[in-house]
Amino acid sequence: MASDIKKLTAKHPGVCAGCGKQFRTGDQILYAREGGVGMAYHPACGGAATAPAPFYVAWRAFGRDDVPKPGHVFFSERDNKVLVVVRSASYYFRDDESDGENAGWVAFAYCREATQEEAGPILAERERAARQKAAQAEIEELHRLIRERGDIPRDRRYRLGGEVLADTTTVYGTGSYFVIEPGWIWSVMRHGMDGDDWSQNNVDDGGAGSIGWRIPYDDTIASRIRAAARLSQ
Ligand SMILES: [Zn+2]
Repeated sequence: MASDIKKLTAKHPGVCAGCGKQFRTGDQILYAREGGVGMAYHPACGGAATAPAPFYVAWRAFGRDDVPKPGHVFFSERDNKVLVVVRSASYYFRDDESDGENAGWVAFAYCREATQEEAGPILAERERAARQKAAQAEIEELHRLIRERGDIPRDRRYRLGGEVLADTTTVYGTGSYFVIEPGWIWSVMRHGMDGDDWSQNNVDDGGAGSIGWRIPYDDTIASRIRAAARLSQ
């Protein structure tokens, strides 16, 4: 909570730490010191200056515009909570001895914990990202497993028909995918970049070709691939 709130007439223009909008010279403002830094408010925004805001977050900002405005909702890794900025401010920091190298904006915000409704979209997005990351790790693990257990049949160039899953191929001749077909599961790696040795390719994909490892069909691995492919989207 801010201590020592004063009513003042602004001696120069500034930015309200409550709403982020400007005030002009001569305007009535509230002035409070917090964290060693002075902050000015429109009188109507002054409620924020006295509202309890239990979370204090400070960081380096690239510019003044990167200082979050009141109402900004974000996830604080340190607090492991979704917070809402109640009021924020910034000041330009410069260490004269470092020749300007050690300079920039220091931003700080007083925050409250978000309501469930406010936190919902951010938590859902974090959950989705975590799910996707886990699915990606599972996909890599499955490629590794098939390439370790399987072999690269080279008796001909294979044209694969079947269920194609977790396809990450690009027009540049990179990426990978799985193919589940009767009797076999394939891990296929695009191998068609300039500089790749195309003669190694045993899978005909219509382009420069790919390298395919295969294992005999396995129910458990097939369902792991399907589940990971679904979750990675
Ligand atoms: Zn204001």
